[in-house]
Amino acid sequence: TTTTTLDIEALAWDKQGGLLPAIVQDADTLRVLMLGYVDRAALQATLASGRVTFYSRSKQRLWTKGESSGHVLALVSVEADCDADTLLVQARPHGPTCHLGRTSCFPEAPGDVLSALDALIARRAQERPEGSYTTRLFEAGIRRIAQKVGEEGVETALAAVAQDDAALLGEAADLLYHLLVLLRARGLGLDDARRVLAARGG
Ligand code: AMP
Ligand code: ZN
Ligand code: ZN
Ligand code: ZN
Repeated sequence: TTTTTLDIEALAWDKQGGLLPAIVQDADTLRVLMLGYVDRAALQATLASGRVTFYSRSKQRLWTKGESSGHVLALVSVEADCDADTLLVQARPHGPTCHLGRTSCFPEAPGDVLSALDALIARRAQERPEGSYTTRLFEAGIRRIAQKVGEEGVETALAAVAQDDAALLGEAADLLYHLLVLLRARGLGLDDARRVLAARGG
């Protein structure tokens, strides 16, 4: 990861009183989650623990995000910007990042809906909450899920041929959802499909 190539001593610590702003981004959905500040010790704690840790200017101490809420940010990578005075931190959030209970501190920050859905489906597969349609699909088994993908595929094709764009978008969304459930039922995810596409140079 980029974390291993990060040269802590080369960062512009003296520029802003020993603190650097750190933009935290969801490693899966790429959504901007929050902004915090790190000093040397916070960055070292982040790298050593794998949990994103800031220097809290209000608490005036190291603050591991999630230390009381449990909504930690599991570190994926850290990268410095062009002039080494700002950090981009990629992480996997365990729960909402904002203390107001929102996924992101920026309510309108765009993210990859498909990746978020894939992550939700993976959680459903693990936890199997009662009353969830996704749980019912997993319990019904791979043949039923495969059948749904086939049906939604045909419905998508028919809507396209009928030139009904509203229906086409609805069916395409159904198809994408059921396709993600099918992949997950085989232990696969969106990233695996992305890798195949990337290897094709797409
Ligand atoms: P936590 O780190 O999630 O256990 O939250 C502890 C405290 O840190 C909260 O009560 C808030 O005061 C503050 N806090 C938590 N998350 C954020 C955030 N994303 N941005 C700013 N302050 C936060
Ligand atoms: Zn910069
Ligand atoms: Zn917030
Ligand atoms: Zn449909």
